[in-house]
Amino acid sequence: MRTPFVVGNWKMNKTAAEAIQFVQEVAKGLPSQSIVESAVAVSPLYLQSMVTAAKDCPLEIMGENIFYEQSGAYTGEVSPQVLKEVGANYVLLGHSERRMYFHESDEIINRKVMAALEVGLKPIICCDETMGRQATGDQIHWVVSQILTDLRGLTDEQMKQIAIAYEPSWAIGTGTSATAEQAEEGCYLIRQTVADIYNDEIANEIRVLYGGSVNPDNIADLMAKRDIDGVLVGNASLQSDSFLKLVNYQ
Ligand code: PGA
Repeated sequence: MRTPFVVGNWKMNKTAAEAIQFVQEVAKGLPSQSIVESAVAVSPLYLQSMVTAAKDCPLEIMGENIFYEQSGAYTGEVSPQVLKEVGANYVLLGHSERRMYFHESDEIINRKVMAALEVGLKPIICCDETMGRQATGDQIHWVVSQILTDLRGLTDEQMKQIAIAYEPSWAIGTGTSATAEQAEEGCYLIRQTVADIYNDEIANEIRVLYGGSVNPDNIADLMAKRDIDGVLVGNASLQSDSFLKLVNYQ
């Protein structure tokens, strides 16, 4: 019922030439009728060339971030409407690196969610969880409070366009993934929170992803869990052979 979703997050990696090479390699190995949807979030500098290079293959090329206004005097920012115009259908919002290095609050993320939806970009909202909070045992409340603010004001129809990624920051880029059980617990909690705010139908429809040191060896265990509909992958999405293994995890 929920289409499995494998999403790469390249962050600030790869040159424009390497990005095109990746698409060419992935296009050769990606089954045209896969039951798994696949996407990579990339720099806006070469997003449009990647979209062109990927036109005959089902790989989605998506944004890593946008600003919360469509245009105006915002030097250096990425316009949601232009990201959509150049071929992105999805955008990551609220990644823990944006929260940490660029001080993005949940209020700002909420405005970005609205700006994305306004132009038909589907947000994948990341929620974080710190090591400290995990140690003190209140990580659950932290995740809930983040998504309550990130989703504020969304109608039922808008909510159906959203995917949410559970990304404990202690698992990001460390090589230490959450166990499948811990990841399931976080994803289950997110779905329950959506059911509380909206209803069971919407909660069962939206995709919830896990992210943090996912690789071709641990993806199948994670995807076997009931509430994990997909993965958000940094390091292991950078090489085309590894990315193809992730998409073909079954
Ligand atoms: P990682 O990154 O797979 O390298 O841990 C995940 C992420 O930042 O989304």
